[in-house]
Amino acid sequence: MMHRRWSVALALALIVSLAGFASALTLVKDGKAVSVIVTGNNPVPSQQKAAEELQYHLKRMTGAVVPIVAEKDLGETDAALVLLGQSDKLSAMGVDTTKLAKEAYIVKTMDGALILAGEDGGNTSEEWASSRVRSGTYYAVCDLLQDQLGVRWLWPGKTGEVIPKRSTVEVGPLDIQEAPKMFQRHYRLGIKDRNRVETTAKFPRYMADRGDLYSTMQENESLWTKRLKQGYSLKFAYGHSYTAWYNRYHDTVPEVFAMQKDGHRGLYTPTENPQLVKMCPSSDKLVDMLIEQFLAARKENPDHRFLNAIENDGNNGFCQCEACKALDVNLTEENRAQIRDLAWSGADLEAVYGAKSDGLPYSLSNRYFHFYNKLARRLREVAPDAFVVAYAYDRYKYAPINMQVEPNILVGLIGFNMYPVSKEERQLQIDNFLAWKKSGVKQVFFRPNSFCFSWAHGVPWNNIDQIAGDFQVLLDGGIVATDFDTYPGYTSTGAPPFYVIARMHWDTEMGPEKAYTEFCDAFGPAASEIKRYFDFWENLMLDRYTAPGVEEILLQYGNRPGRRERWKSIHRMVTRQDFARAAQMLQKARAAADASGDADLQERIRVLELGFRMGELTCKASAFNNDDAASDKDTWYSGHWPVLKELFEVREELGRLQCDDIFWLFSYEVEYADMYGTRIAHDFYKRPFAPVMAPAHDSWIFAPDPDDQGEAQEWFAKEIEAPVALKKPLSGDFFYTGWTGTLPVRQWMVDSGKKKVVNGWYQVVFNAPADKLPADAVIFVPYIQGAAKIWVNDKLVRETTEEQGVADEAVTIPLNEAGVKAGEPFRLTIKVVEPEGSAGLIGPACIAEPAA
Ligand SMILES: [Zn+2]
Repeated sequence: MMHRRWSVALALALIVSLAGFASALTLVKDGKAVSVIVTGNNPVPSQQKAAEELQYHLKRMTGAVVPIVAEKDLGETDAALVLLGQSDKLSAMGVDTTKLAKEAYIVKTMDGALILAGEDGGNTSEEWASSRVRSGTYYAVCDLLQDQLGVRWLWPGKTGEVIPKRSTVEVGPLDIQEAPKMFQRHYRLGIKDRNRVETTAKFPRYMADRGDLYSTMQENESLWTKRLKQGYSLKFAYGHSYTAWYNRYHDTVPEVFAMQKDGHRGLYTPTENPQLVKMCPSSDKLVDMLIEQFLAARKENPDHRFLNAIENDGNNGFCQCEACKALDVNLTEENRAQIRDLAWSGADLEAVYGAKSDGLPYSLSNRYFHFYNKLARRLREVAPDAFVVAYAYDRYKYAPINMQVEPNILVGLIGFNMYPVSKEERQLQIDNFLAWKKSGVKQVFFRPNSFCFSWAHGVPWNNIDQIAGDFQVLLDGGIVATDFDTYPGYTSTGAPPFYVIARMHWDTEMGPEKAYTEFCDAFGPAASEIKRYFDFWENLMLDRYTAPGVEEILLQYGNRPGRRERWKSIHRMVTRQDFARAAQMLQKARAAADASGDADLQERIRVLELGFRMGELTCKASAFNNDDAASDKDTWYSGHWPVLKELFEVREELGRLQCDDIFWLFSYEVEYADMYGTRIAHDFYKRPFAPVMAPAHDSWIFAPDPDDQGEAQEWFAKEIEAPVALKKPLSGDFFYTGWTGTLPVRQWMVDSGKKKVVNGWYQVVFNAPADKLPADAVIFVPYIQGAAKIWVNDKLVRETTEEQGVADEAVTIPLNEAGVKAGEPFRLTIKVVEPEGSAGLIGPACIAEPAA
């Protein structure tokens, strides 16, 4: 008996304790919901969003709607409970998420329930996407969906969601607890409020026509980064920190500013932007002021922990004072070995540490980190938990020589910027990172420009081995935060590395290869062809951009082998044969997708097909605009217009699918002098005309009319005298940028002392042979913002009000109505009242014909 009673007692004890352990449970059975999502009684927005996300994905997976209820409304139920976020029930089970590390979460089956809960701190009342909200519970849901139920989020928007179909969902037993390795994991998004304003100024009709698309895509991108667990355990502010100092302190404390060669302290040249003024890093007064300002801020906010001391941007005007120079370390025979010892495996030390034309060594890291060290020691005395924030960037990007860096300095590493990259350059970057580590730097945050500088624009591209491989080196080296500038939304052409790097942010040990395989495997039966397709582009780009002679080609398209030059020469790098080979791979992927009957997979392949076609068309447009056409030649669209029209339509389709950031695609091209000629497609978008000819870009004349005398002086009747500053060629784009923002206009304001253009006069001479002009040709003026008058030769042909200017109709003037004789050159003159800001003539006028 004793034995038996003892057994029962033991069995009971076992059951009780087992209940506390993990057990399996069913959420959906044969397409019916057999569970309920239970939140606390007052879920914060990020918890509510987490519940909705779980419900959404389970519905797409099974068809069943699992209800969401607050715990007070639960009542009696046989359903399995999914306890989502902190609640009274969770507390009763002994789970307290506020005790977890920031942003950490648990995914656990326990007592017949599934717990999905995490640390949800910060300004929790703010909306779920806010960067001030920590959302452990949300990540718990994502973790379950991704790691247990096989969901993948390959890119922003529905087409990137991979949700395996099944009728029954069982989980567990599970007992998972995770916390982020980095306190900030961040992609800056190209789609954001400021860019929306700028794009609207350039393409008002285009933006108006797209309604909510911008906002929708903005939300899609936020959601995507959140699903991949981007976020902040801790927010810290940084950036060039003395941008307002010159105006504020130059008169009172000149000694904190850099000494220039002539002995004055302050700006490098009188017209230099004061935001670029350099400081004197040997100045004790500068240290005093920074400490003082830090303490004042900390008094306001006891959580203030970061003293931003990053030098201003720009690479001119570094301090020439004797005290600063004494801190510099010049490259000598004696210290070469010592420098090599830092970690440099094969670097050209002359280039890294040698002398520059300003008489200072290239690397000014020693003077700057002497300053940061001094500041860090002072800071430690008054705020032991605080950090000095510094950059490893520009002239102070290479590790200092024979110097240890204080542990309370957070160093922002700006580098690893351009891919594909040669072996030597790549090694230099890695060596430099290791050299910083050897200098004692404990806290490195990574702020690369690679997303901006590397991807081909509108053309298929991939790079896993290098860009993600290097990122793994940095992760292994213990970086504490990231800030990738800028995610451009090149989904249809270059999604894999964005996905792979995002995945590696949380699962820091999975490695690039595994994450890349995961991306490809999400294409199911087409996986191997998709991998072949992206491998093809990776190898091709690597070969082409590291081939001998590539720099010479790039320099034919600009003054340095940078991003712009890579984009403008893309047709020289990718050939028709390359596209033909890649097309075969994509066709096989398409066949596999069609055979599977999986509509979501077919849609994903469709996105890649559109990206492929965009690539072909972009290369054609690039060949025409960057080689055949030139800014000093008129552009004839016969033959070329169908390419631009189709390119526009392909992007329209990508926009409808909400996968690529089509706004970024267009606005960047315009910023780079319309390198593919696509702006004409906007001008003619949905209009019953097609372009025939646009006059040479730099035959346009612009003249301000600040005293309103143009009409009295009949400027329309002659060739307008443009002020010297506005003589062609204008830097940047002539149109779409907003006149007051352009350098020549700012220079004109400086030269003339005038503050306003008042009237803007635009003039161009058309020179069109009669045999090239259709009989029904018109002068086509796509955009005028502001009230305007238009003359052809001496004849006033149109007058438009301010309202008409922004209306949907382009101004069209039949050539015969204007009195133009076929084959004779004619002068078009347009006066726009107050062409300030984004107003004025914001697109070029051209000759057009009614569309077929
Ligand atoms: Zn100095």
